[in-house]
Amino acid sequence: MSKKNKDTILIIEDNEMNMALVREILKRDSSLLEATTGEEGIDLANKFLPDLILLDIGLPGIDGTVVAKTLKENPKTKGIPIIAVTAYVSEYDKERILNAGCDGHIPKPINVKTFENEIRTYLKKTLKMAQTSGSILISICNL
Ligand code: MN
Repeated sequence: MSKKNKDTILIIEDNEMNMALVREILKRDSSLLEATTGEEGIDLANKFLPDLILLDIGLPGIDGTVVAKTLKENPKTKGIPIIAVTAYVSEYDKERILNAGCDGHIPKPINVKTFENEIRTYLKKTLKMAQTSGSILISICNL
């Protein structure tokens, strides 16, 4: 039961060391799904509908911006918040990444002291959004 109450986070990251670091930081309080390519990430997102996606941009095969676009164009997955975690940090790149559909941007190398809190903040925002749309739904049903 406690496992079901955990948030599910999908990590799409091709670098083993980065994946291990993010896993170590998040595994205690979240259920983690891991993909090392964009294609695999899209598959897992569709299968498991995670609460949040952490997306590397530089990936073999399709890159992270294509992954974000693909997920945001699909009605099934478009509501899942996507946070880019990337070494592309110029203003130009940030804009390109947000325009592709990412909801946030965390620069690499990640700050191990603040990373978990940043992620929790995004998850809380998501939860609030879900609760708000839930209550709107209830009000509509009560009309
Ligand atoms: Mn990469």
